[in-house]
Amino acid sequence: MEKLKRTLTRIDNKGYKAYKDLEGKTYTFPDFELCFYYVQGDPFAGPSQAAVRVEQKRAQFPPATYEPKIRKIALGDYLTRELSKQIKRVCKGRRGTGKSGLLAVDSPGQEILERSSVTVNKEYVEARFFIGLPARGRKVLGKQAEEMLFTELPELIKRTLFFSALDRNPLINHIKTAENQESMRNELREKGLVAFVANDAILPRRSGVDQRPLPRDQAVTFTSPPSLEVELSPPHGEKILGMGIPGGITLIVGGGYHGKSTLLRALERGVYNHIPGDGREYIVTVEDAVKIRAEDGRRVCKVNISPFIDNLPMKVDTTTFFSEDASGSTSQAANIIEALEIGTSLLLLDEDTSATNFMIRDERMQRLVEKNKEPITPFLDKVRDIYRDLGISTVIVMGGSGDYFDASDTVIMMDHYYAYDVTGDAKRVAEDYPRNRASEGGEGFGELTPRIVGKKGLDPVKGKKKKISAKGLYNIQYGAQNLSLFYLEQLVDAAQTRAIGDIINYVAEQYINESITLKKAIDLAFHDIYEKGLDVISPFYGEHPGDYSLPRPQEVAGAFNRLRSLHIK
Ligand code: ADP
Ligand code: MG
Repeated sequence: MEKLKRTLTRIDNKGYKAYKDLEGKTYTFPDFELCFYYVQGDPFAGPSQAAVRVEQKRAQFPPATYEPKIRKIALGDYLTRELSKQIKRVCKGRRGTGKSGLLAVDSPGQEILERSSVTVNKEYVEARFFIGLPARGRKVLGKQAEEMLFTELPELIKRTLFFSALDRNPLINHIKTAENQESMRNELREKGLVAFVANDAILPRRSGVDQRPLPRDQAVTFTSPPSLEVELSPPHGEKILGMGIPGGITLIVGGGYHGKSTLLRALERGVYNHIPGDGREYIVTVEDAVKIRAEDGRRVCKVNISPFIDNLPMKVDTTTFFSEDASGSTSQAANIIEALEIGTSLLLLDEDTSATNFMIRDERMQRLVEKNKEPITPFLDKVRDIYRDLGISTVIVMGGSGDYFDASDTVIMMDHYYAYDVTGDAKRVAEDYPRNRASEGGEGFGELTPRIVGKKGLDPVKGKKKKISAKGLYNIQYGAQNLSLFYLEQLVDAAQTRAIGDIINYVAEQYINESITLKKAIDLAFHDIYEKGLDVISPFYGEHPGDYSLPRPQEVAGAFNRLRSLHIK
């Protein structure tokens, strides 16, 4: 600590590069160690990266707060939020030029995710920061740096990284809520369910760009229809009642603006755990559920979409379908096949974001345009095969066509934001108004073809340097290309996006070879993350990857599949 003080005095008013002296050094404070992983070369460059470690001897987090793993994840997530909150109170903020005075940690949203920002284990608690070392012009402001590192930082640490300093109830509640969700998600399969929506849940969000819940007095809280009500038993607290969505094919019907898409969106996000107060804490969906949508314009690289599409004009081969600019229907077909490739047990579709000709083809159209002139086998004729042959369930929002009544096992109607079980009514309507359309599905779902990725096109070089950087939630600069993940609707946290960029590179470097499938390569990377933690994906292993959160294999595969440079053997 004294040494750091002396250094700051010595380099005061020198050129900014003098700060580089701190890089790689660890300084011992009375209560913690401060380590500079990386020091910026310029006040306008990306901020410096530092970590603070407090020995468990002093921090005193009881093992029950970080064991088993789900609690460790929840505690790390909670502490990240606390740090973020306390920084606002303790730190004066920007002073001087560029990023001078900045002190920041990663800032989480509504989901409780595994994060690299804070780690807790038997030995220590570690928090990772981004620091803008202060400057005037391009000169070191030693006194200001001293204030940040010797006043603000210790105060922040004192408030957040010692168990005794923290408010006990919200911390324990955060952990218990996460553990409950994980346990309930695991309970789904035992009970033959694919999703569960608790009574009293709040589904609608503030806005399309604000994931916080609509205030309680403006929302209709969820109530399960009696016939679908089930009880789950989380480890903490009482049993929870709510709507169980059984495996099979489930239709969500109802008038426009009655809450269909809102219910589906809650199911999409139910693959993640939510923070207390989110309103969706006890909405859980099987962890590998995938939202499927049309995405015209996307690139599709040698995907076997023949179960859905064949006989394209110009004899385009659909067993290794390639397009730089896929149509609505072909992109939606590719999205399904790719979801099956990486692995899923539940598909989620919404008519709002689907290609009509992919979803339905009615009797009149069958008469006018004969089967041999229509390359598309609609999802309607495959949805049962997907369940019967592959064991994969589907939930579809479909207010516009009753053709799915025959194919479905459960029909839920949304009416003024209330859910009703109308399965019986739908079956009766289907009997009273039989359809004459011919089924076009053929025998079984069709063939699935695993793909092997080539190394070519996966090196993230721009000029001569490696360049991987995420910009917000949806964009990754990967080498020279801009990778857009805008249509991966289950990507929820910009820290996941950052991780995805580096995971692509990690997978490419470690595992891509002539004989390994895309799925296998991604699975191996996730195994490494599971064993060694998120840091393993950092291209600067040992440096400070303090702003990752864990994505799902489904989104990582989604990112690979959207790389314009992807090359399939
Ligand atoms: P649909 O898909 O049936 O057309 P949406 O799900 O898009 O309808 O919902 C329409 C509007 O109603 C949205 O603005 C949504 O936020 C709001 N909404 C949805 N569910 C509720 C609810 N339970 N309480 C209050 N408002 C809701
Ligand atoms: Mg809708």
